[in-house]
Amino acid sequence: MIALEGIEKSFGDNLVLKGVSVVVPEGHVTALIGASGSGKSTLLRCVNLLEIPQAGRVCIDDAEIRFVPGGKVDRGAMLALRRKTGMVFQNFQLFPHRTVVENVMEALVTVLKWPRDRARARAMELLDKVGMRFKADEWPSSLSGGQQQRVAIARALAPSPKVLLCDEPTSALDPQLAAEVIEVLAQLAREGTTMLMATHDLRLAASIASNVVYLDAGEVVEAGPAGEVFGAPREPRTKVFISTLT
Ligand code: ATP
Ligand code: MG
Repeated sequence: MIALEGIEKSFGDNLVLKGVSVVVPEGHVTALIGASGSGKSTLLRCVNLLEIPQAGRVCIDDAEIRFVPGGKVDRGAMLALRRKTGMVFQNFQLFPHRTVVENVMEALVTVLKWPRDRARARAMELLDKVGMRFKADEWPSSLSGGQQQRVAIARALAPSPKVLLCDEPTSALDPQLAAEVIEVLAQLAREGTTMLMATHDLRLAASIASNVVYLDAGEVVEAGPAGEVFGAPREPRTKVFISTLT
């Protein structure tokens, strides 16, 4: 069970998330759509606690934190929650001084304390899955953007997270390279990987998401099955927004 409830987050006096509640069904992809500045990235960062909400509840299985204004967040609980997530960023963010396979092994070795040979075997399996085994011993800087993103996906999956958080995973890529990444994400979706994905790419969202959440100015305007939100949106604001997507 992955649930966000009443999430509030402000930066200074800018209230960016105004009590956002989202349920992410397991085994499915949930797309988070909304205009630039609507709070999509902030919401994803509140799930893995790169940002700490001021109020609300984040729950992933048995890991749960309730946030109260001014309250202190237990560090152990934060790490427990964070370990149930994997994150893919728009700009890949691979470690530049580690080879491809070392990038994928990193969390297994440093966080989960796996022996290096076991971590390497798992990393090679994941590189195989994203079609990047052949670059295992190269440096990230020698890879195309699409290849780097596929490695980043393998890295995020290495510790077997309950949910893969993707923030605009294709928007730094030209269409051909984006297509390679979409193919990998679509395969993961078919395998039942639980994902919460912020995207401007309507084709990506429509092709792999079962559910869609439309965020506007830090509020959920409409959420539901992708076919309904895209095909027959109920809210006037959703209709207008969807008509702006290509
Ligand atoms: P985009 O589609 O452009 O990626 P988004 O929906 O992801 O937009 P966010 O990045 O979550 O939007 O930003 C929401 C609001 O929060 C914006 O007004 C932004 O300026 C503000 N914001 C985000 N991060 C910070 C920060 N670290 N400090 C101050 N303000 C921030
Ligand atoms: Mg964003």
